[in-house]
Amino acid sequence: MAEDCLFCKIIAGEIPSTEVYSDDEFYAFRDINPGAPTHVLVIPRQHVARITDAEDPELIGKLVLCANKIAKQEGLTEKGFRYVINCDEWGGQTVFHIHLHILGGRPLAWPPG
Ligand code: 5GP
Ligand code: ZN
Repeated sequence: MAEDCLFCKIIAGEIPSTEVYSDDEFYAFRDINPGAPTHVLVIPRQHVARITDAEDPELIGKLVLCANKIAKQEGLTEKGFRYVINCDEWGGQTVFHIHLHILGGRPLAWPPG
Protein backbone atom coordinates (compact mmCIF):
# COMPACT_ATOMS: atom_id res chain seq x y z
CA MET A 1 0.00 0.00 0.00
CA ALA A 2 1.28 3.44 -0.92
CA GLU A 3 0.76 6.16 1.65
CA ASP A 4 -1.57 8.96 0.60
CA CYS A 5 -2.96 6.94 -2.30
CA LEU A 6 -6.75 7.28 -2.46
CA PHE A 7 -7.26 3.96 -4.22
CA CYS A 8 -4.96 2.05 -1.83
CA LYS A 9 -7.16 3.46 0.95
CA ILE A 10 -10.27 2.25 -0.89
CA ILE A 11 -8.74 -1.24 -1.22
CA ALA A 12 -7.90 -1.19 2.49
CA GLY A 13 -11.50 -0.22 3.30
CA GLU A 14 -10.36 3.05 4.91
CA ILE A 15 -12.50 4.95 2.39
CA PRO A 16 -15.92 3.46 1.58
CA SER A 17 -16.76 2.40 -1.95
CA THR A 18 -19.47 0.44 -3.73
CA GLU A 19 -17.95 -2.91 -4.62
CA VAL A 20 -18.65 -4.42 -8.01
CA TYR A 21 -16.00 -7.16 -8.09
CA SER A 22 -13.21 -8.40 -5.86
CA ASP A 23 -10.55 -11.10 -6.04
CA ASP A 24 -6.97 -11.64 -4.82
CA GLU A 25 -5.46 -9.29 -7.38
CA PHE A 26 -8.16 -6.81 -8.41
CA TYR A 27 -10.91 -4.68 -6.94
CA ALA A 28 -13.67 -2.90 -8.87
CA PHE A 29 -16.08 -0.24 -7.60
CA ARG A 30 -18.48 2.41 -8.88
CA ASP A 31 -17.05 5.81 -9.80
CA ILE A 32 -18.18 8.49 -7.34
CA ASN A 33 -18.84 10.90 -10.21
CA PRO A 34 -20.18 8.70 -13.00
CA GLY A 35 -19.68 9.83 -16.59
CA ALA A 36 -22.22 7.31 -17.90
CA PRO A 37 -25.06 5.19 -16.46
CA THR A 38 -22.50 2.46 -15.77
CA HIS A 39 -19.07 3.71 -14.67
CA VAL A 40 -16.85 1.19 -12.91
CA LEU A 41 -13.17 1.53 -11.95
CA VAL A 42 -11.03 -1.62 -11.98
CA ILE A 43 -7.81 -1.43 -10.02
CA PRO A 44 -4.99 -3.84 -9.20
CA ARG A 45 -4.49 -4.35 -5.46
CA GLN A 46 -0.80 -3.76 -6.12
CA HIS A 47 0.05 -0.04 -6.20
CA VAL A 48 1.40 1.09 -9.58
CA ALA A 49 1.08 4.83 -10.21
CA ARG A 50 0.41 4.97 -13.95
CA ILE A 51 -0.03 2.65 -16.91
CA THR A 52 3.41 3.58 -18.30
CA ASP A 53 4.99 2.37 -15.03
CA ALA A 54 3.50 -1.11 -15.47
CA GLU A 55 6.13 -3.81 -15.97
CA ASP A 56 4.19 -7.03 -15.44
CA PRO A 57 2.46 -8.18 -18.65
CA GLU A 58 0.45 -10.70 -16.66
CA LEU A 59 -0.97 -7.98 -14.41
CA ILE A 60 -2.08 -5.85 -17.36
CA GLY A 61 -3.47 -8.83 -19.25
CA LYS A 62 -5.43 -9.93 -16.20
CA LEU A 63 -6.68 -6.36 -15.64
CA VAL A 64 -8.34 -6.40 -19.07
CA LEU A 65 -9.72 -9.92 -18.62
CA CYS A 66 -11.10 -8.89 -15.25
CA ALA A 67 -12.76 -5.86 -16.88
CA ASN A 68 -14.26 -8.17 -19.53
CA LYS A 69 -15.82 -10.24 -16.78
CA ILE A 70 -17.29 -7.13 -15.14
CA ALA A 71 -18.57 -5.72 -18.46
CA LYS A 72 -20.49 -8.97 -18.98
CA GLN A 73 -21.69 -8.97 -15.36
CA GLU A 74 -22.94 -5.38 -15.81
CA GLY A 75 -24.84 -6.33 -18.98
CA LEU A 76 -22.76 -4.08 -21.24
CA THR A 77 -21.60 -6.58 -23.85
CA GLU A 78 -24.76 -6.68 -25.93
CA LYS A 79 -24.81 -3.00 -26.92
CA GLY A 80 -21.14 -2.11 -26.41
CA PHE A 81 -19.16 0.01 -23.98
CA ARG A 82 -15.72 1.64 -23.56
CA TYR A 83 -12.52 1.08 -21.60
CA VAL A 84 -10.41 4.15 -20.73
CA ILE A 85 -7.03 4.44 -19.01
CA ASN A 86 -6.02 8.06 -18.49
CA CYS A 87 -2.31 8.78 -18.15
CA ASP A 88 -0.67 11.85 -16.61
CA GLU A 89 -1.71 15.49 -16.88
CA TRP A 90 -2.81 15.77 -20.50
CA GLY A 91 -4.50 12.39 -20.34
CA GLY A 92 -6.61 13.63 -17.45
CA GLN A 93 -5.26 11.28 -14.78
CA THR A 94 -6.21 12.55 -11.33
CA VAL A 95 -5.59 9.47 -9.17
CA PHE A 96 -2.12 7.98 -9.43
CA HIS A 97 -2.93 4.30 -8.97
CA ILE A 98 -3.62 2.46 -12.24
CA HIS A 99 -7.31 2.21 -12.97
CA LEU A 100 -9.31 1.08 -15.95
CA HIS A 101 -12.61 2.89 -16.46
CA ILE A 102 -15.53 0.83 -17.77
CA LEU A 103 -18.12 3.19 -19.26
CA GLY A 104 -21.43 2.11 -20.74
CA GLY A 105 -25.19 2.19 -20.59
CA ARG A 106 -25.62 4.84 -23.30
CA PRO A 107 -24.11 5.63 -26.72
CA LEU A 108 -20.68 7.22 -26.16
CA ALA A 109 -19.37 10.09 -28.30
CA TRP A 110 -16.03 9.95 -30.10
CA PRO A 111 -13.51 11.57 -30.05
CA PRO A 112 -13.40 12.48 -26.35
CA GLY A 113 -12.86 16.11 -25.35
P1 5GP B 1 -8.83 9.57 -13.54
O1 5GP B 1 -9.28 10.99 -13.77
O2 5GP B 1 -7.58 9.52 -12.68
O3 5GP B 1 -8.69 8.76 -14.79
O4 5GP B 1 -10.00 8.86 -12.75
C1 5GP B 1 -10.18 8.97 -11.39
C2 5GP B 1 -11.64 8.65 -11.12
O5 5GP B 1 -11.79 8.38 -9.74
C3 5GP B 1 -12.59 9.80 -11.47
O6 5GP B 1 -13.53 9.36 -12.45
C4 5GP B 1 -13.26 10.14 -10.14
O7 5GP B 1 -14.62 10.47 -10.26
C5 5GP B 1 -13.04 8.87 -9.33
N1 5GP B 1 -12.93 9.10 -7.90
C6 5GP B 1 -12.20 10.06 -7.28
N2 5GP B 1 -12.31 9.95 -5.95
C7 5GP B 1 -13.14 8.88 -5.72
C8 5GP B 1 -13.65 8.28 -4.53
O8 5GP B 1 -13.35 8.68 -3.39
N3 5GP B 1 -14.48 7.23 -4.69
C9 5GP B 1 -14.83 6.74 -5.93
N4 5GP B 1 -15.66 5.70 -5.96
N5 5GP B 1 -14.36 7.29 -7.06
C10 5GP B 1 -13.53 8.35 -6.97
ZN1 ZN C 1 -2.34 3.02 -4.59
